[in-house]
Amino acid sequence: MKTGEINLPENVLAFLHSIGENKSLNAYNSVFREEALSKADSIAGKISSGDHGKLAGMVISVKDVISIKDKPMTSSSAILKNFSPVYSATVIERLLAEDAIIIGKTNSDEFAMGSTNETSAFGFVRNPVNREYVPGGSSGGSAASVAARLCDVSLGSDTGGSIRQPASFCGVYGFKPTYSIVSRYGLTSYASSFDTIGPIANNISDIAIVMDVISGHDPKDSTSSQLPPANFSVPEKLPEGLKIGLPLEYLGEGLDPQIKSFLDSFINRIRSRGIKVEPVSLPHTSYAVAAYYILTTAEASSNLSRYDGVRYGHRSLNNSDLNEMYTLSRTEGFGDEVKLRIMLGTYVLSAGYYDAYYKKAQKVRRLIKNDFDAVFSSVDLIIAPTTPHIGKKIGDGFTDPLQMYLGDVYTTSANLAGIPALNIPAGYSDSGLPVGLQLMANCFNDKLLLDFGREVR
Ligand code: GLN
Repeated sequence: MKTGEINLPENVLAFLHSIGENKSLNAYNSVFREEALSKADSIAGKISSGDHGKLAGMVISVKDVISIKDKPMTSSSAILKNFSPVYSATVIERLLAEDAIIIGKTNSDEFAMGSTNETSAFGFVRNPVNREYVPGGSSGGSAASVAARLCDVSLGSDTGGSIRQPASFCGVYGFKPTYSIVSRYGLTSYASSFDTIGPIANNISDIAIVMDVISGHDPKDSTSSQLPPANFSVPEKLPEGLKIGLPLEYLGEGLDPQIKSFLDSFINRIRSRGIKVEPVSLPHTSYAVAAYYILTTAEASSNLSRYDGVRYGHRSLNNSDLNEMYTLSRTEGFGDEVKLRIMLGTYVLSAGYYDAYYKKAQKVRRLIKNDFDAVFSSVDLIIAPTTPHIGKKIGDGFTDPLQMYLGDVYTTSANLAGIPALNIPAGYSDSGLPVGLQLMANCFNDKLLLDFGREVR
């Protein structure tokens, strides 16, 4: 763009054209055509004058759980169908301040609850690599929009894998940062002690530059870290004697042999470059999914109590009194998966069950964090699969919700422990579907993780 080789308004038009051509993917809930084009004009002017923000020229889609002032934000739920927030998320303010162009909001599972994008109130999303398959979830529209080149980068959210798993299914990069380094202000709350915002992109450079812009302390998020943000977009040499751990618990019989063989060849490749890979143990791994679904449904049952027909979104008009108005608004507005989770969460928090479920799961969360602390005292990074299976056909995932939850077996631990994790595309299966691998680091080692990913991709 600086040399005039690429024209920004034309580039944005080309993205808008592709979005139109790919409507059947159902990746976008809304597209901001006019605004994107007028921004393209003004930012093109800034680029030619040489005085522009860090993200000038970058076209970004945003998962529809992140607030943009006066733009529809549905969280892919019927309960928020006609809702527009009165303020923008901190990540959005920061992107715009650096001259990014936001082209639209992407489809996802309803309230980010799901692994296939099929719980959306606005229909499923197709995987651009094979349209009979799901793109993964919950940030399915985000990953599909990046893989189909309907934008440069997408912002997703990851509570238990929702950036990494769809990135893996669509063959792109997806980064879940350390909890607290990216502000959650303006993100729809699902499970607040797990929720993180992060980028999905076609390469690590784009992930890094977006992280430069969106990370850093925000006084509007009380859980936001005070540590100075890293300079992600300037790669550093990897430390001498870097060691990678391979957790044996992630290689159990549930793992698809094709994914295992991609993992093996990745390990051979990095070993041949002199990087040490050694087996490590995360002994509480098999409890992660159970602890995750107890704690996140508990938090969700509390967070989603705000949708009462009074303050936000849908209100039922068929009521005869206040209580009936609350009940019917929620009954009509929420989809089945969300209702299931509110009921589960209410149950695990209720008197008499709290100690047996919620409190116990909190203790397991600490044990999982302790496992990572122990492992990261002897290795710098962890390599693992992102998912146990390769893709799923549209419609196949919902026969058994428990099976869907078990698909999160390799991703939820990072959220329980708050550590950063990155999906990198590893290749294609025999059936032509993308396979991803996952790299993890200790809290606040996000930069090392991205530098390593860039080095070994
Ligand atoms: N699949 C997980 C769930 O349904 C992860 C969702 C997420 O990370 N938002 O909760």
